[in-house]
Amino acid sequence: MEVIGVWAFVALNVRTILVENTWFSGHQSVVIKNLDFIKNDGLDNWLKEQKARWSCSGCGLNISWYDEKCGSCGSKVFNCKNEEAELE
Ligand SMILES: [Zn+2]
Repeated sequence: MEVIGVWAFVALNVRTILVENTWFSGHQSVVIKNLDFIKNDGLDNWLKEQKARWSCSGCGLNISWYDEKCGSCGSKVFNCKNEEAELE
């Protein structure tokens, strides 16, 4: 099995575990969304999307999951809590 086939197998099974087990708390909606993206569009495209996703739209510097605003330019950012709320 080629490497991407193994990754797709693991991703599919992790997704099933996350969907079927409500005891996972926190960010499972984002994780499931990410796994679906990787399955459908591939790991390389997901990495490119994530680089853009976690960059400030104002200045381009990296932001992290819980940032409310960019630490450099002060722009409001779309953090993981916003993303979870949008997915639910
Ligand atoms: Zn910024």
